[in-house]
Amino acid sequence: MASSSCTADDTEIVFRAQALTKVYRMGEVEVHALRGIDLELPRGEFVVLLGPSGSGKSTLLNILGGLDTPTSGQVICGGRNLVAAGERELTEFRRHLVGFVFQFYNLIPSLTARENVAIVTEIARDPMPPEDALALVGLAERLDHFPSQLSGGEQQRVAIARAVVNKPLVLLLDEPLSALDYKLRKAMQIELKELRRKLGITFVFVTHDQEEAFSMSDRVIVMNNGVIEQVGTPVSVYEEPCNLYVARFVGEINIIDAEVVEPGDGRARVRTGGLDVFMRTGHAFRAGEKAHILLRPEDLRVETLKDLAEDPELEDIFARGRSIVGTVEETIYKGATYDVVVRLDAGGVVTATEFFNEDDETVYFRAGDRVAVSWVEGWEVVLPYEK
Ligand code: ADP
Ligand code: MG
Repeated sequence: MASSSCTADDTEIVFRAQALTKVYRMGEVEVHALRGIDLELPRGEFVVLLGPSGSGKSTLLNILGGLDTPTSGQVICGGRNLVAAGERELTEFRRHLVGFVFQFYNLIPSLTARENVAIVTEIARDPMPPEDALALVGLAERLDHFPSQLSGGEQQRVAIARAVVNKPLVLLLDEPLSALDYKLRKAMQIELKELRRKLGITFVFVTHDQEEAFSMSDRVIVMNNGVIEQVGTPVSVYEEPCNLYVARFVGEINIIDAEVVEPGDGRARVRTGGLDVFMRTGHAFRAGEKAHILLRPEDLRVETLKDLAEDPELEDIFARGRSIVGTVEETIYKGATYDVVVRLDAGGVVTATEFFNEDDETVYFRAGDRVAVSWVEGWEVVLPYEK
């Protein structure tokens, strides 16, 4: 590791961003790209910035990498505020502590893979040999090939080797796989995770693709319109979204309107349709407050009222007072699974994902079936009402 004034000291936090804002002014028009970002990046983590196009991901990444300056706020690295740093200090930082990978490879066509990587080591203090960097990305056999002799994926590997050859503290990657086809993207996701393990450095990876974010990250930072909506592990963001925006952005979700009839500690009695039960919630509700019950389609279970009536045991396992009645509107075949769309008697529509039985490859439900929908107690998320 290149020694520097900017390496993380005793704390394991590599980067700390505080109250970052960025306003782009174009004549009369102001674009608020970042509206107050607080962020900590621990050493050695794979962090993904996830958000739709225009949410401020690239702006944030560029500010972290010292390529752009915020309108206000601080970026602290090793006790120093980058925003207040002079030009010399910033150049040091860019050259020795961060590596960048973009969607476009920007290789020099007249240089070989080895030369494209070697060129950035001229300004480095303690680079690895370019051959080693290329071996890390699986190009040990292609050192003397020119970009035109390499596929898009291979060219991107050269760009990655170039970004890590100077042994940065942090690698910043801005949608680096977006130009690759699906299969190659999947393979590169796995390779990037391996690369991070080998190097032991922090990766900050920008994507708008939720699946990509979940499959790669230790921690996901969900961005929307210049703010951070939620930070957490993929599992916690998926299972415990903190608001409707996050819930909808990371996968399919059913949202059922309800009312809190009795608040409690860590739970609340919630009423919707024929349902009136205690549900787990971290939110402190008031009695009478409107709420949303959030349920993932794969967490829902559907049974026909007919089956439930004919089999008391099934009824017992299935419902225990926590099911909602409705009518099947349609079923949608998805290959390994199918979706059952149910219009609830109390209003609203929910989708449940069902697996096929091993011995029965037919869709069990038919449009018009009267059904009850239920789920395992505690799998619901209850959030305050949003318009
Ligand atoms: P993302 O990477 O999430 O797609 P960006 O950070 O690129 O988002 O952009 C955030 C917002 O800032 C967008 O509304 C974008 O149009 C605006 N923006 C980005 N760069 C500039 C710029 N150089 N000048 C003016 N507006 C910009
Ligand atoms: Mg971007």
